[in-house]
Amino acid sequence: MEQAREILHRIFGYEAFRGTQEQVIDHVIGGGDALVLMPTGGGKSLCYQIPALARDGVGVVISPLIALMQDQVDALRALGVRADFLNSTQDLDTRRGVEAAFLAGDLDLLYLAPEGLSSPATQRLLDRGRISLFAIDEAHCVSQWGHDFRPDYLALAMLHERWPAVPRIALTATATPATQAEIALRLNLKEARRFTASFDRPNIQYRIVPKNEPRKQLLDLLRTEHRGDAGIVYCLSRASVDKTAELLVQQGIPALPYHAGLDAETRAANQSRFLREDGLVMVATIAFGMGIDKPDVRFVAHLDLPKSVEGYYQETGRAGRDGLPSTAWLAYGLQDVVQQRKMIDGSEGDAAHRRVLAGHLDAMLALCETVECRRVRLLAHFGEDGAACGNCDTCLAPPASWDGTVPAQKLLSTVLRLRRERNQRFGAGQSIDILLGKKTDKVIQFDHASLSVFGVGAELREAEWRGVVRQLLAQGLLAVEGEHGTLALTEASGEVLRGARQVMMRREPERPARAAKASRS
Ligand code: ADP
Ligand code: ZN
Repeated sequence: MEQAREILHRIFGYEAFRGTQEQVIDHVIGGGDALVLMPTGGGKSLCYQIPALARDGVGVVISPLIALMQDQVDALRALGVRADFLNSTQDLDTRRGVEAAFLAGDLDLLYLAPEGLSSPATQRLLDRGRISLFAIDEAHCVSQWGHDFRPDYLALAMLHERWPAVPRIALTATATPATQAEIALRLNLKEARRFTASFDRPNIQYRIVPKNEPRKQLLDLLRTEHRGDAGIVYCLSRASVDKTAELLVQQGIPALPYHAGLDAETRAANQSRFLREDGLVMVATIAFGMGIDKPDVRFVAHLDLPKSVEGYYQETGRAGRDGLPSTAWLAYGLQDVVQQRKMIDGSEGDAAHRRVLAGHLDAMLALCETVECRRVRLLAHFGEDGAACGNCDTCLAPPASWDGTVPAQKLLSTVLRLRRERNQRFGAGQSIDILLGKKTDKVIQFDHASLSVFGVGAELREAEWRGVVRQLLAQGLLAVEGEHGTLALTEASGEVLRGARQVMMRREPERPARAAKASRS
C-alpha cells in the first residue's frame, strides 16, 4: 500500500519494510485482526504504529512495560508522532491532560497498561473517543502456562466484545505452537490472520558450556572475545547479580546491577545508562530486558539456567539486534538442575502447574544436552525446520556421544543401596565420593566404605561423574527431592538398573586447560 510506504519513509526514515511487516500493516490498515509472531528486534512496533497513523482515530497500545512507556513515547514524539500514555505512575492533572487530548483526537497513539483497561472509568473514556486499532504488545503474557503470565491480560478478551468494529493486532516474540493457540483462544483472535516471521537469528552464536567456576569463565569470555562490548549477564538471584557486578567492576569492566531489590530510581538510572553509554555490561535478573531496544548488545551471558526455552530465546534475543555477530553464552551445571527441580517442587500451584514447569525445564535441559546443532533444536522448539548452522558450539566442535550405561548403573545403584540398605538419602556429592572411593569425614561417619559400590567408579573423574548425574537428571532417569536436593530413583531408573535401557551421554569437548592438566599427571 502506497500510504504505508510513504509513512515509513517520511516519518520513520526507513528505506524498506522488513520481513512480514508490509503484509501485516496492509492487513491492519484494511481493518483486519492480526496475530503477529516476530522475534525480538524484528520490528514489531511499526506493525501497529504505521496503521495507527494511517487510520482515523487513536491507536491504543496495551503494553505491560510501564517503565518504558515514557521512553517509547519520547522516541515517537522525536519523530513528530503525537503519542502519550496513561498509567498508574501519573498524577491526576497529567492524566486529565492526556484524556482530553485523546477525546479531542489530538493523539496518534495512546499507550495503556493492561490493568488500566480493567477500570470502568478508562473503558468509558475509550467509549467516548475514536479508536483506530488496539495493539496488544507482549501478547504471550496472556498465556497462563507461559513464563510471563500477567493476569490482567485475561481481561483483554473483552476488547472484541466492547469494541467489535475496532481491529486488533496482538504481537509477541515468544510463542510455541501451543502458546499461539492459547493467545488466539484467550484474546478472542481465532479468526485473526497469523503472520509468523522466522525465529532464526543467524548472527547469534549459541554456546552452552559446562559450569565450573562461572564468574571466572565469564571473565575469560569478556576479556578474550568481548573487550569493551556492551552486554547483558543474567543471574538467577539478586545476591548473585550484586556479587557479579562488583567483581566485574573490580576487574576493570564497567558493569551495573539491575534487579527488583534495587529502588526504582537506581533501576531507572542504570537502565538509561546502559541504553545511552557504550560498552557497559548490565548484570541483571530477568526483571531486566523486556522491551529494551539497544541494537549493539554484543553478548548475552547466562550464569544460571533459564527456566524455559522461551525465556532463553527471549533473553538471548536481546543480543545483536543490529544484525552483527553476537554471542549467546550459557554456563550450565548439575547444581542448576538440582536447584530448579527443587524450586518446582516447592512452587505454589497445583500438580498440573508443576508438571508444566517441569516440562519447560525438561525442554531447556534437552537443549543444553543436545549433540545436535543448538540452533536447529531451538528453532524446532518454535515449530521451524532448519539445517545445521555451522556457527554454534556443537556445530563447531561436535561433542561425541558415549555409552554411559555402566556408569549410570553404578550411580543409580549407589542411590538405591543408600536407600535400601541404609535408609539414607544423600545428594550428588556423597554418591560421587562413594563411587570414587574417597574416605571423607562424611564417608567415615556413615561407614559408606563398607558399601559394595565403594570405589567402583574410578574410571571417571569427579567432574565427569557430575556430568553423569546432570545428564541422568536431564533425561529423567534420576530425580532430586526435598529441600536438600537428595537423589531419588524414577520409574525409568529401574530399566537402566535392569540393563533394559541404554543411556547415551554427551561428552563435553576437551578444554585446553583440562588437556594440560591431564598430561602433567
Ligand atoms: P521488536 O519490537 O520486534 O523487538 P522493534 O520494533 O523495537 O522490534 O524494532 C527493532 C529495531 O529495528 C528498531 O530500532 C526499529 O527502529 C528498527 N526497524 C524496524 N523496522 C525497520 C525497517 N523496516 N527498516 C529499518 N529498521 C527497522
Ligand atoms: Zn549449529
